Amino acid sequence: MTSKTLSAFLLNQLNELKDRGLYNTIDPLEGPNGPVIRMKGREFVNLSSNNYLGLATDKRLVDAAVEATIRFGVGSGAVRTINGTLALHVELEEKLAAFKGTEAAVAFQSGFNCNMAAISAVMGEGDAILSDELNHASIIDGCRLTKAKVIRYRHSDMDDLRTKAKEARESGAFGKIMAITDGVFSMDGDVAKLPDIAEIAESYDLITYVDDAHGSGVLGGGAGTVKHFGLSDRIDFQIGTLSKAVGAVGGYVAGTREVVDWLKARSRPFLFSTALPPGTVAACIEAIGILQESKQLQDRLWENAAYLRRGLQALGFSTGHTATPITPCMIGDEEKTQRFSARLYEEGVYAKAIVFPTVPKGTGRVRNMPTAEHTTKMLDRALAAYGKAGWELGLIR
Ligand code: PMP
Repeated sequence: MTSKTLSAFLLNQLNELKDRGLYNTIDPLEGPNGPVIRMKGREFVNLSSNNYLGLATDKRLVDAAVEATIRFGVGSGAVRTINGTLALHVELEEKLAAFKGTEAAVAFQSGFNCNMAAISAVMGEGDAILSDELNHASIIDGCRLTKAKVIRYRHSDMDDLRTKAKEARESGAFGKIMAITDGVFSMDGDVAKLPDIAEIAESYDLITYVDDAHGSGVLGGGAGTVKHFGLSDRIDFQIGTLSKAVGAVGGYVAGTREVVDWLKARSRPFLFSTALPPGTVAACIEAIGILQESKQLQDRLWENAAYLRRGLQALGFSTGHTATPITPCMIGDEEKTQRFSARLYEEGVYAKAIVFPTVPKGTGRVRNMPTAEHTTKMLDRALAAYGKAGWELGLIR
């Protein structure tokens, strides 16, 4: 293929995406990703970041990052197993394990990378993975990296999981079988039924794996969904991200000493991708300390989420079945959802439309991510825009 034909092919594909409304235009931020953001010279109430606790711009984290950067430089210089492991990485991992209540933890370059790393390091040919149909893309891709058979179960449908676990185990066709789920589902804000999953896992001898990207720092006093349900000793793999509530970037797997040592020995991103930079690691250490010290930021987050949810409901919107700060405003029709989000943008509110294929057809929603940093005034400004735009588009009366 010449570069000209490749360009023509890609242009054609891009146009197809645009026609289907699946092409993301990206407006760069002209300042930090805080509760109010600037884009194209305009200010918006920001209801689209994962910076749940406002730690991305917290001065304590910034100072820790600057100090470590001055001492150690901007890069860690190598992969973890050559000589990219700084004492800071070890300190972070010890703090993460203590925070999660596990024997050990290992840090990766992102939450996405954790799922690439951990699933493929443990599962292989002759194994089976039972995966919730709404699991995050990185879990889906992590499963694809293995030669294990992937069996999807209906979203949070414990009867379906039980039936499929029983069939898989009783077939005798598989060695290891893993049940894998998001802790908090990012599009609806609902929480996985972990006590049932743990019980089913015990009945059918399953490995348990929870990706708690949206639960860490938010649920369980900050320690996450597994702690929330008191299941710390019944879940084998707890995945967390350092890029949402923790405010920086990176990910980690928390579990037993053996799980962590195996990932350090065999997982490919650990072996072949450069370690997290010192500044980031120092900022994460600071963040974990803050999360352990006080629940103040989490309390603010939950208060703001409740305020926004009540406000949207009072206007006549449905917020679906969220049980966490993730607050969808359910619209349904794809085009209406996009138009509504665009109208909110005109009104100075940045809240993303989430439509098919990210969520099932006919369940379009504008997703709101309130944070600990939003003031009541900011949320009121957003609610006023919701009221105005919703009325204009005939979504509420
Ligand atoms: N897992 C889940 C459930 C997520 O929501 C995300 C973030 N979108 C990730 C993993 C990826 O985490 P990161 O952004 O740290 O790569």
